[in-house]
Amino acid sequence: MSPNPLRRRALLAAGGAVAGSFALAGSASASPTRLPGTPREALEAILVGNRRFAAGHARHPHQTPARVRETAAGQHPFAIVLGCADSRVPPEVVFDQGIGDVFDNRVAGNIVDDLLLGSIEYAVEEFAPPLIVVLGHERCGAVSATLASLETGTPAPGHIAAIVTALTPIVAPYAGVPDGVELAVRANVRAQAEALVSTSEIVRESVERGRTLVAGARYDLESGLVTLVH
Ligand SMILES: [Zn+2]
Repeated sequence: MSPNPLRRRALLAAGGAVAGSFALAGSASASPTRLPGTPREALEAILVGNRRFAAGHARHPHQTPARVRETAAGQHPFAIVLGCADSRVPPEVVFDQGIGDVFDNRVAGNIVDDLLLGSIEYAVEEFAPPLIVVLGHERCGAVSATLASLETGTPAPGHIAAIVTALTPIVAPYAGVPDGVELAVRANVRAQAEALVSTSEIVRESVERGRTLVAGARYDLESGLVTLVH
């Protein structure tokens, strides 16, 4: 899982589109199609992309056969997303990105567990992306199910119980509270973002070096807009 300098050189030689990715390694050159190289640039890229999407002006970048071929030899995504599996919140669509741009990790309730953390740490080690986004969303079913289980005292069936168990410590304070689902969705985004940094030495080190920003965000089902959760 260690970075592969040979492959990175090959990618660099393959075209300017990936040149910006190497800013973190200190070897970037200017390019008209430069990828976001800093945390600020990466955050701006996904938020601007989301504004395009929500306004009906999506560009659908990086979705051509040429992009497929360009990335076949290797990927260099500029963002990692930890998002919910909800079919209405696909990161590439709502951020108006394409092939090779986003390293997706999706599970109902956008929960950090060991497997998800391994997946994210792999991407941090391998691609050194400047941004990790924890993307929750309005009326999340996993959060709603956990609150319903707590409020009614009814256990969730099957392995859904594992999700309820994972979310319970975070959302329990909002059981029976007006607007509890919305408050719990935001609390869960904050908690999972904090868990990424506190649980993972690899993520923490990257954040402390200023190479990676961990941002929490909420997707609005009605407007299609993403807003940051602090
Ligand atoms: Zn959800």
